[in-house]
Amino acid sequence: MSELVLVTGAGGYLAMHVVNVFLQNGHRVRGTVRNLNDIKKIEALRSLASEDRLELVEADLLNKNSWPAVMKDVTLVCHVASPFPSAPVQDENILIRPALDGTLNVLNAAYESKTVKRVVLTSSTIAIVGYTPENRVYTESDWPNPDTQFAYGKSKILAEKAAWDFVEDKKKLNQKVFELSVINPSFILGPTLHGQETVLGTSESRVLNLLDGSVEKIPKFNVCLCDVRDVALAHYKAAFLQEAVGQRHAIMTIPERVSMKEIADILNEEFGHKGFKIPKEEDTNGMLSKGSVDNSRMLNVLGINPIPIKQTLSDMVNSFIQNGLLKKAE
Ligand code: NAP
Repeated sequence: MSELVLVTGAGGYLAMHVVNVFLQNGHRVRGTVRNLNDIKKIEALRSLASEDRLELVEADLLNKNSWPAVMKDVTLVCHVASPFPSAPVQDENILIRPALDGTLNVLNAAYESKTVKRVVLTSSTIAIVGYTPENRVYTESDWPNPDTQFAYGKSKILAEKAAWDFVEDKKKLNQKVFELSVINPSFILGPTLHGQETVLGTSESRVLNLLDGSVEKIPKFNVCLCDVRDVALAHYKAAFLQEAVGQRHAIMTIPERVSMKEIADILNEEFGHKGFKIPKEEDTNGMLSKGSVDNSRMLNVLGINPIPIKQTLSDMVNSFIQNGLLKKAE
């Protein structure tokens, strides 16, 4: 029988693609959501497969009692859920508690289930590079100091470290534990599977806001970026490849950083003449960083041939239009 794969936070931007890639490869998926009554999100998720292939259940990262039942008969876990806010938070625990305690709640339940063979954890390249990168090439062996990071970065570093420690501690005690593989995506772009009126994730909003007239100047920052479909595929590959076990995998289309100005310029080329008011001027406030990230594990171990940036952006905007998320600016 095909694997029963648990995907946490299944209604999120990335998680919907993770659900999709497992379904498309013939697996059964159990997806967790916080609220089964969030009709818009649930409808979009349910449209990915019929009920006998995709089961949706409620679970909150902060409620450790919600996880043991969710693990029943699960052999593989993709732990994707974690808050990714679009603005700074006042209290870092708003992010750290669901990221760190939530990861431990999921891992404990996976461990206790005795059926889970592998966990694929969604971390971030923030847990490799941090927020103030030096001008050098970073690799998966780099770890920034969590205490020098903004709350989101800290939440991702602490959660990933806790996952590696969890597995190591069990091994030291000679206890049989699931295999762990970690995916560290850079800034994720590419088509959304969300529909109208869904509360969009940070990645989706960043690009949508460049086209809907809500920003006058292009925010000044640069990031390594990747396509959401490549990140979902990375989770799928990491779930089955033996070489992925015990490893982190930085995911990015190219090792170099891309600025929001370069992104806006690409968008302007294809969509500027179609009635979208995309800003051309970059904000003077902000910062451009120089560090890059080695993506050779993604290319050579996971065997992912990344989707080119222009394609990623074009497919992303077209998905906004098709899903009724983008109206032309007044
Ligand atoms: P998203 O659309 O905002 O998804 C976040 C998910 O986390 C949502 O499904 C949300 O559930 C869930 N979640 C948050 N708090 C929760 C809680 N207390 N209990 C249960 N679920 C909770 O963001 P995303 O971009 O897809 O991010 C998904 C993962 O990728 C995160 O781990 C993020 O750190 C990582 N990541 C994202 C990027 C990026 O550029 N987008 C880059 C690197 C890593 P609800 O649907 O119930 O709100």
